[in-house]
Amino acid sequence: AQYQLLYSGSEGSVLTARPIDCSIPEYLPEPLLLSHHDKTKTIVPSKIDYSRFINEISSRRRPAQLREISKVLEKLPSTCIKFGIGVPNVLTFPFKKISVELITGENIELKDQELSDALQYLASVGYRPLINLLEGIQDWFHGPQNWEDTSIMVTSGAQEGLSKAVDMCMSCNDSVIIPDPIYTGAIDLFKPYNAEIISIKQDSYGIIVEELEKVLVERKMKMLSIPKIIYLNPTASNPAGTTLTTNRKREIYRLACEYDMLILEDDPYYYLHFGPENPVSLLSMDTEGRVLRFDSFSKIMSSGLRVGFITGPKTLLRQMELHMQTSSMHTSSLSQVLLYKLLSKWGRDGLVSHFMHVKEFYKQKRDHMMAAVVRELEGLAEWNEPTGGMFLWLKIIGVDDTRKLVATRCLDKLIILAPGYAFVDNVESPSSFVRLSYSIATPEEIDRGISLLAECIREEQQL
Ligand code: PMP
Repeated sequence: AQYQLLYSGSEGSVLTARPIDCSIPEYLPEPLLLSHHDKTKTIVPSKIDYSRFINEISSRRRPAQLREISKVLEKLPSTCIKFGIGVPNVLTFPFKKISVELITGENIELKDQELSDALQYLASVGYRPLINLLEGIQDWFHGPQNWEDTSIMVTSGAQEGLSKAVDMCMSCNDSVIIPDPIYTGAIDLFKPYNAEIISIKQDSYGIIVEELEKVLVERKMKMLSIPKIIYLNPTASNPAGTTLTTNRKREIYRLACEYDMLILEDDPYYYLHFGPENPVSLLSMDTEGRVLRFDSFSKIMSSGLRVGFITGPKTLLRQMELHMQTSSMHTSSLSQVLLYKLLSKWGRDGLVSHFMHVKEFYKQKRDHMMAAVVRELEGLAEWNEPTGGMFLWLKIIGVDDTRKLVATRCLDKLIILAPGYAFVDNVESPSSFVRLSYSIATPEEIDRGISLLAECIREEQQL
């Protein structure tokens, strides 16, 4: 077929391609690539005015014309003559084959076209074959998505996705709702915006929805600004180890709709949930298009690959893609192609059995640490059993601020803990908490470490 390059006005002069002699009137719509999707979910057509979530700087972003060409390339035959493409020639690169041995002894080999793809620039949203697989994974875990209005962008870990979302949405002095305690990497994204941080306390089931509602009602009555963003880390949260219940998620989603807020669902521990059933995600409840979900392969494949992905409303994803075009350009091609090869080799069953294996590994570690904690820290600390992930959040009894305990007493005995103040809005304020991770420590180290921690707490309490 012959192809014609087109600039479509509707998306801000987006370059695209269509076969000249084909009957598609405007341009090749992306959903053509997604014919396998089940479209049974009832989606209320979005009433959302997304301009509320796109700040002034973000709204000035323009498509990087040469980056847009990468997208067109995916849709053209490989025989096209690429005079317009200013990329280096992969033939000059020193790699002939990339071969990776899996722990099972099997091999993954990248050669020919896949090797070229892995070594070359690619479209800012990510490697299309990988994205197609990720769409299947999202459909499977979170119910069928409406792919007409939803899209995916591959990011360098969940962190890059979060950062792009915050940079798109936040303006200086905006308010934001966060859980208390919170993942430090999230709060540090809001701080440069001088954000008014509204922390909502967590109990063992995640944030307390009544408190959230109270804050929102009060702000409305006092005519204070309503936060644009509610940030949540719903499964096996870092650092608290809590998992938000489905009912709470439904209530939070209802409030987000009522108060016109965007939910950032940062869920890198989703596949490390120890319960019998997968948690019901906010993405799966989203009928209006107000959830941006951040997934990550860091905890289950490799944190060094730096691959995560955002799923959410097309309009917002497109805005973040424009940012990606001029920042990192795209997530590592090598990581994406490698991951694609692995996922397609495994298929659904292989993926599930790997998830189960990793989950079981952390569950055993959790059980070991909990046994040591029950044995050694009864009366010295309080805790909730982690529901997944790799963190235990301990409240130390009789110690108002754990700074000294962590920085001197424990360090002197070569035990490294994360101090509680790192996980709240104001790092100056005292915190009686510490975060322990059972990820790396061996069972022997866990036993010895918890017993030494008990000694340290006793010494600190006697002060
Ligand atoms: N969110 C949370 C809650 C995390 O704990 C982490 C990793 N510590 C991240 C995001 C970032 O993960 P990634 O490696 O995918 O960027």
